[in-house]
Amino acid sequence: MRYYVCTLFPDMIHQIMGTSILGRAEKNGYISVNTVNIRDFSRKNSMRVDDYPYGGGAGMVMEPEPVYQAVQAALQRAEADRRAEASRRAADGRSAGAEQRAELDRRAAEPAQTEESREEKSTPSGRRTRVIYLTPQAKVLDQTLVEELAREEELVLLCGHYEGIDERVLQETVTDYVSIGDYVLTGGELGAAVLMDAVSRFVPGVLHNDESSQFESMQDNLLEYPHFTRPEEWHGRKVPPVLLTGDHGKIEEWRYQQAVARTQERRPDLLKNSFTLHTFWYGPQA
Ligand code: SAM
Repeated sequence: MRYYVCTLFPDMIHQIMGTSILGRAEKNGYISVNTVNIRDFSRKNSMRVDDYPYGGGAGMVMEPEPVYQAVQAALQRAEADRRAEASRRAADGRSAGAEQRAELDRRAAEPAQTEESREEKSTPSGRRTRVIYLTPQAKVLDQTLVEELAREEELVLLCGHYEGIDERVLQETVTDYVSIGDYVLTGGELGAAVLMDAVSRFVPGVLHNDESSQFESMQDNLLEYPHFTRPEEWHGRKVPPVLLTGDHGKIEEWRYQQAVARTQERRPDLLKNSFTLHTFWYGPQA
């Protein structure tokens, strides 16, 4: 997965994404985190990219042209990287098998696209490269969208600041609007990092076996069961005896019950969408 983040604060992105599991994933080539500094496209000596809002009111608005140039630069880099990756695969002579790989190789042999055609270009999955604007004015990111985005090979993420970004450049460049929650942040960088973190967990190779769970919160709209590790007793609190039995059937059953009870207590809104529970209660035909 290749990420291209258009931001006023590239260091913030690299700092977050360069740490722990994600940092290791980037080092090992499972993800790549690229940034485009919107300020590099400022037309002012001050390097500012914001201006007063038409119509008056508080706050500043990010100008359309620097944002447009930054997104175009991100798309160009994405395309160049896609070609390089395709050439590398072709040179490796690896038979990737999947139709997707054949398509990559075909694209590597194509002449470079012109500026005009680039706008309409599509990814190996046949779609236009997704350009995601992080904004509170959108549907909140959930596991379904995370898994959908993880199927892309590249994502362009656009981070706003101040009052936001001139609407016209959003209309012209953005394909998806994503919020990370019903609250307002000072900028889109944390939102972009949240999205990249959640998506990267689905990229093969990013998580080692001991870091991924067969059951995760949100899987089938259930929260995950509670976890315990050594010592067996801590501050007078004992590990639930069933976990010490070695009986995997019983342990699975207990964990499932715990997941349901926890979801009922903390997120009852999720339960109505749980396919497994629905089937359990009402039968497969309901
Ligand atoms: N004036 C905007 C509004 O009321 O919708 C809020 C702008 S906010 C102060 C600045 C930037 O932070 C936004 O352009 C967006 O990129 C980012 N942002 C703020 N809250 C967010 C959220 N909940 N999810 C994702 N991005 C957010």
